[in-house]
Amino acid sequence: MGSAVMWFRRDLRLADNPALLDAVSAGDGSVLALFVLDPALWDKAGSPRRDHLVSSLRSLSDSIGGKLVVRHGDPAKVVPALAAEIGAVNVHIAADYGPYGQRRDSAVEAALDCPLVSTGSPYAVAPGRVLTQQGSSYKVFTPYYGAWRDHGWRQPVEPPTGVKWIGKRSDALPESAAAAGEEAALKHWHEYLDDVAAYDDERDRPDLDSTSRMSVPLKYGEIHPRTMLADLLRKPSDGAAAYQRELAWREFCADLLARYPEAAWKPLRPEFEQMEYDEPGDAFDAWCNGLTGYPIVDAGMRQLAETGFMHNRVRMVVASFLVKDLHLHWKYGARWFMRQLRDGDLASNSLNWQWVAGCGADASPYFRIFNPTTQGLKFDPDGSYVRRWVHELQDLPGKSAHEPWKDDSPSEYPRPIVDHAEARQESLRRYAAIKGTA
Ligand code: FAD
Repeated sequence: MGSAVMWFRRDLRLADNPALLDAVSAGDGSVLALFVLDPALWDKAGSPRRDHLVSSLRSLSDSIGGKLVVRHGDPAKVVPALAAEIGAVNVHIAADYGPYGQRRDSAVEAALDCPLVSTGSPYAVAPGRVLTQQGSSYKVFTPYYGAWRDHGWRQPVEPPTGVKWIGKRSDALPESAAAAGEEAALKHWHEYLDDVAAYDDERDRPDLDSTSRMSVPLKYGEIHPRTMLADLLRKPSDGAAAYQRELAWREFCADLLARYPEAAWKPLRPEFEQMEYDEPGDAFDAWCNGLTGYPIVDAGMRQLAETGFMHNRVRMVVASFLVKDLHLHWKYGARWFMRQLRDGDLASNSLNWQWVAGCGADASPYFRIFNPTTQGLKFDPDGSYVRRWVHELQDLPGKSAHEPWKDDSPSEYPRPIVDHAEARQESLRRYAAIKGTA
């Protein structure tokens, strides 16, 4: 009986972590806790994600007496070398279903002298498990959701006790100021549960800012969705049911990406390969910098730049604006989001972009084009969200902040860079050209 390696990736927690329990029981109870800072992922992540990851790693390390071993490098070299150094019986992981994660894990497995044991995943129901009666995967959310609920999930498991954590040299981590980690995630979640009953009514209102902000802890696995689902079942309400459905959207996105890895950057509907798009230029820069002249779009893009977060309704509006008002390919927006978002997650990001762009498996019909002004008036009715992020509009009262061009438009705020009605017509023309090609 020897030691085991627990290779943490998107599961930076001790509670409800079946892979960790397996690592503890695999050998003599001594475990080397490892995290590999992989340049292939680190170099692509923007500073909000790096910042959060570093804080979360510090918190995980603190919770095991400073024994987390962090190493920079290629996992296919780092993991086998450390496993050999301690004579590990096994290396334990929770499965990663992303396209890069799958390739990386195969390379690590091939290079190891001991088994790579995979237990659990970042999802309540792992991708590929929810199948139709014919054994194929679902492409539409509503039937997926029914089958996902019928499938069910295991109960959360307790954190391990009495683990002998193995100490080893650890590479230095950069400085970071984010509040992160398992304890903070659980505290935040338990506080949010008191308000979840209102989720159904308020979730679309960026001005109320009443969504849970749990996408970030979920992204890093500081909490498992199973834990959240168990808590939701204990507090039944319309809000809790609506929240459960959103967690299922996250799992649906992961399921689709696992089945169609090319969906990360290519449309799931092949006819959209023929869609005519413009090249990103000044209009793209204006979108990135929150200078389009459409207040709700600019507020969202500035919230993103300043905080690494954007409300879901506003993500839909700014994404629609990029694709259907600026006529740019969604992949440019998706890439920008991945750099800027603290919760940037390939599956949720790409599949939601495809939903908005109309080219996803289950997508909003392309011809349903959001009017950014109407969206602003409907979901931020007194303009307070827009005023919070677009300082040039501070002095415009109430809903007039959504239509600054109507009154005395503040001179420092840009005029709209496109005419929405004309841009909409142009989008419909381009769509008509591909519609018959499916
Ligand atoms: P809440 O409203 O409190 O929702 C609870 C949880 O449900 C979220 O934390 C999230 O895990 C899940 N969820 C909610 N809506 C969705 C959804 N539409 N798709 C998948 N899961 C959902 N979410 C990410 O986690 N990472 C991304 O990179 C990402 N990119 C997106 C890009 C676009 C264009 C759009 C329209 C949506 C994107 N989303 C992404 C989904 C959603 O916007 C965020 O999960 C949500 O805004 C996070 O805030 P919250 O935790 O307060 O959400």
